[in-house]
Amino acid sequence: MHAQSDSKTDSGPSANDVSELHNASVDEGAARQGACAQVHLPTGAMCTLRHGHEGSCQFSPAGQVDTLLARRKTAERW
Ligand SMILES: [Zn+2]
Repeated sequence: MHAQSDSKTDSGPSANDVSELHNASVDEGAARQGACAQVHLPTGAMCTLRHGHEGSCQFSPAGQVDTLLARRKTAERW
């Protein structure tokens, strides 16, 4: 007897984790102001473009997002 087949059907981590992760990658405060607010988790940088903007996200350093957001809102009349 050898090679025990280890074919247990283990239902691993469910897909629930995905939505949680998605929530964590959006800055709620900035999103409420109308920003895209996608956060690049590895660096903490955030996209300060308008929500629903075209093209890819433009990530700015976390320390600058407030300034950039305010400036953009004024310039583009959000
Ligand atoms: Zn974006």
